[in-house]
Amino acid sequence: MDKPVELTGLSQPELVSFVETLGERSYRGRQLFAALQHRRLRSFDEITDLPKELRTRLNEAARAATLNVESQYISTDGTRRYLMKTHDGLPVETVFIPEERRDTICFSSQSGCPLQCTFCLTAQLGLLRSLTAGEIVEQIVIALNDAYGAGVKPPRGTNLVAMGAGEPLLNLDALLKALRVMADPQGLHIVPNRVTVSTAGVVPRILDLAKVSDRPHLAISLAAPTDELRNELMPINKRWPLDDLLSACKVFEMSLKPGERLTFEYVMLDGVNDSDVQARQLANLLNRHNIAAKVNLIPHNPADPLPYRPSDEATVDRFKSILESKGIHTYVRKPRGRDIFAACGQLAARQSTLSNLSQITSIGANN
Ligand code: SAH
Repeated sequence: MDKPVELTGLSQPELVSFVETLGERSYRGRQLFAALQHRRLRSFDEITDLPKELRTRLNEAARAATLNVESQYISTDGTRRYLMKTHDGLPVETVFIPEERRDTICFSSQSGCPLQCTFCLTAQLGLLRSLTAGEIVEQIVIALNDAYGAGVKPPRGTNLVAMGAGEPLLNLDALLKALRVMADPQGLHIVPNRVTVSTAGVVPRILDLAKVSDRPHLAISLAAPTDELRNELMPINKRWPLDDLLSACKVFEMSLKPGERLTFEYVMLDGVNDSDVQARQLANLLNRHNIAAKVNLIPHNPADPLPYRPSDEATVDRFKSILESKGIHTYVRKPRGRDIFAACGQLAARQSTLSNLSQITSIGANN
């Protein structure tokens, strides 16, 4: 028998074509799209407005869901972390961050990550594989269903950030496909303007993304103001050093809409990249490239095997004021979900890191 088709990564027109191959009328495809994306149902048996006979055939030919939630954790600050498995047994992690005026879902673009950033726990997994468009969409569906229930319209807007495991620009096609599916007003209706993709600096793909018309916002992870230090912390810098990266950022910036800005992320590592000199070097680097960006300072989220400590608050504040004195808009990112290892750089899909935490529930297949 042919491999079952994964339906969660298909657009509405693709679902219409798919049902037509089963000899069905096109409106069944639209019905199916609404059921999977708008009502966020995760099994054909729940789509009771489809004839039973069609549901049986769908169960044979296709999959309405492929990710299984293995466990979930809830932080004291309300952040929820999900550990899921793909059908081939690989870990996928997603974090749901409720805020007063919106929810943010931090999703993974790959299982593991091929980049070797020394301050990030995910790096220790290596790359297991890139996720499919359907696996990206499903992470959002699972998080929203857990927060609000299947089919319930979220009370606040949903923002997405591709800041979970993986390097999104090494899986750009699947990512853009997932974003197109999620933007459909008859589905999840999360438009690219609500999405931020974060990259370690895959220069050719930044240039590709600059040409995409309906595209997400872009954030670039810098972590160091000089090539010497960045080579050490983020080995991708040896392939695409700072001058190449910032030149690509400048090209990207020229394609932004009025009022839109690039974001640079800078993880603050105590005694490594947080000195006054380095703050001035960072400001000069951005100003030399004439980029009107904003900088997010992220205090390092510690994890046992990582050889770093977060910069203290006073140091972060001083770093921020030096950047601001040189005209750079700077924000300090508040860590969320540190107690459940859900914060940036702490996703390593290891039950062992979490074994001494209280696990809220263990939910079975197809939640
Ligand atoms: N590969 C992409 C997206 C994933 S990382 C990228 O590099 O941008 C998302 C953000 O978390 C990046 O800015 C990264 O630098 C930051 N980060 C990684 N490990 C961290 C840690 N331990 N503490 C704080 N931020 C971290």
